[in-house]
Amino acid sequence: VVIVGAGFGGLAAARRLDKQHVDVTLIDRHNYHTFLPLLYQVSTAGLNAADVGYPVRGVFRKRRRVLFRQGRVTGIDWQGQQVRIEGADPVSFDKLILAAGSATNYFGVPGAKEHSFPLYTLPDALRVRNHLLSLFEAADTRPDLVADRVLNFVVVGGGATGVEVSGAIVELIEKVLRRDFHDLDVSAARVILVERSDTLLGPFSQKSRDYALAQLRKKGVDVRLGTTVAEVAEDCVRFADGGSVPTRMVVWAAGIQADRLAGVGGWGQGPGGRITVGPDLAVEGHPDVFAIGDIADIDNGAGGRLPQLAQVALQGGKFAAKQILRDLAGEPRQVFRYRDKGTMATIGRRAAVAELAGGAKLKGFIAWLAWLMLHLVYLVGMRNRMSVLVNWGWNYLTWDRGPRLIVAAEPMPSRPQLTAGTPQERAIGAGPEQAASTATAAGDEATEP
Ligand SMILES: Cc1cc2nc3c(=O)[nH]c(=O)nc-3n(C[C@H](O)[C@H](O)[C@H](O)COP(=O)(O)OP(=O)(O)OC[C@H]3O[C@@H](n4cnc5c(N)ncnc54)[C@H](O)[C@@H]3O)c2cc1C
Repeated sequence: VVIVGAGFGGLAAARRLDKQHVDVTLIDRHNYHTFLPLLYQVSTAGLNAADVGYPVRGVFRKRRRVLFRQGRVTGIDWQGQQVRIEGADPVSFDKLILAAGSATNYFGVPGAKEHSFPLYTLPDALRVRNHLLSLFEAADTRPDLVADRVLNFVVVGGGATGVEVSGAIVELIEKVLRRDFHDLDVSAARVILVERSDTLLGPFSQKSRDYALAQLRKKGVDVRLGTTVAEVAEDCVRFADGGSVPTRMVVWAAGIQADRLAGVGGWGQGPGGRITVGPDLAVEGHPDVFAIGDIADIDNGAGGRLPQLAQVALQGGKFAAKQILRDLAGEPRQVFRYRDKGTMATIGRRAAVAELAGGAKLKGFIAWLAWLMLHLVYLVGMRNRMSVLVNWGWNYLTWDRGPRLIVAAEPMPSRPQLTAGTPQERAIGAGPEQAASTATAAGDEATEP
C-alpha cells in the first residue's frame, strides 16, 4: 500500500495497516508530520517548531513494515500502477491512499499570494514569526517607521485560524513585546482582523461567535466584519468598499483548497478542487485508490460535505485502511460514517469556545482547558507533548514566550550541494528550522519574503 501524505489521515492509515502486517510505503514532501492546529503558536513565538513537527521515521522506527520516502508526489501512472515522485524513481502500488491535505486558497485576490503570509506549513509559521519580530526590530531602529504604520498587522479571515492568530498576536504584543522594547512606542501597534461575512467562526453557534467577537475586541483586536479584501499590496490592504489599511504584514487565513495533487488524476473534483469519493472513500472509477481527509470531497449524508478537520482525516485514514484489509480478506466494503466529536477554537489565554458532540457548549476558562488537554492528547510524540506542556506552563506563569527568535535560512557556501534539486538535498547541513525554511524555498508553498 502506498500512502501519500504523513498528516493526520496518512499516519492513521499507516498505523492501522502496520498492525495487520501490510507493507506500506508512506511518502511525504517533508520528513516530518506537522500538527497543524498548533502552527499559529509557532508563528507567534508560543512554541518551538520542533514541538509541533515530528519526524515520520521516528513514528515508525519500531514498525519495519512501514517504509518512509521523502519526496513530492507529482502524478500517477495508471498503466504501471505507480506514483511519480519529483526527482526520484516512481513507487509501485497495489492500493493507494491519497492524503495530501490542503493548501492556501487566495481566491484570486490580486497581490494576496505575493504579499501575504499563509499559515499552512512549519516554514510558513517561521516566516510569520520572523517577519513579525523583524518589523518590531526595524521600528525600534527607525522610529519614523512607526508613523508609516509598520506595526499594523492585518489578519484576513475570521474562521478558527484567523481568530486564533489575531488573538495570539495581540497577546504577544501587549504582554511580551511591550516589555521587550523599552524605547519603542508599542502602543502604536494594531492588530486588525478582517472578515468578509458578518460573523466570526461561521460554523459555531451564535453564542460562541458573540463570545469570540467580544473577547477579541476586549483584547484590543480591531475586528472588521462585512469587509472584503480587494487587493493586497506591498504596503497596504485595499478593501472592496474603497477603504484601505497601511501594513507591512498580512496573514492570510481566509481559505483553503485541496492540495494540487488533487488535480493530477483525471477523476471528479468537488468544491475547492477536492477529489470526489464514494461512500467507501474510494475514488470514482478507481476502486484501489482512496482519498481521505482534506483532499477528499466526502458526502456528510445530509446533503452537504464533511468539513476539513483533523477528526475527519483521522477517522478516514483508519477507515480506508480497514477497507483495504477487508479487500484482502475477501469481505465487502463498508460505508464511511463520520463520528462528529465537536469543534473548538481558542481566542487567547483563558478564552476559548468548545461545542461538543452531545450539544454541550463551553466557553471561557473551561473551554480553554478542554482545548489544551485535547491538543496535548492528539499531538504526536511524547517528547513533543512534554515540551508543549512545559512551554505552556512557562508562558502561563510568566507571561513570557521563549522562542521569539528571528531565524532565517541563510545560504551555506561551505556546505556541499549534491545537486540544485530536491528539498532534502538542499536541507543537508541545516538545523531543523533552517532546513524547514530551505525545503520550502525549494518547494512551491511560498518564497522567502
Ligand atoms: C493553521 C491550521 C489550524 C487548524 N486547526 C484545526 C483545529 O484546531 N482542529 C481541527 O480539527 N482541524 C484544524 N485544522 C485542519 C486540520 O489540520 C486538517 O483538517 C488536517 O490536517 C487534515 O489532515 P490530512 O491528513 O488530510 O492532511 P494534512 O494533515 O494537511 O497532511 C497532508 C500531508 O501531505 C503532504 N503532502 C502534500 N502534498 C504532497 C505531495 N504532492 N507529495 C507528498 N506529500 C505531500 C504534506 O506535507 C502533509 O504532511 C487546522 C489547519 C490549519 C492549517
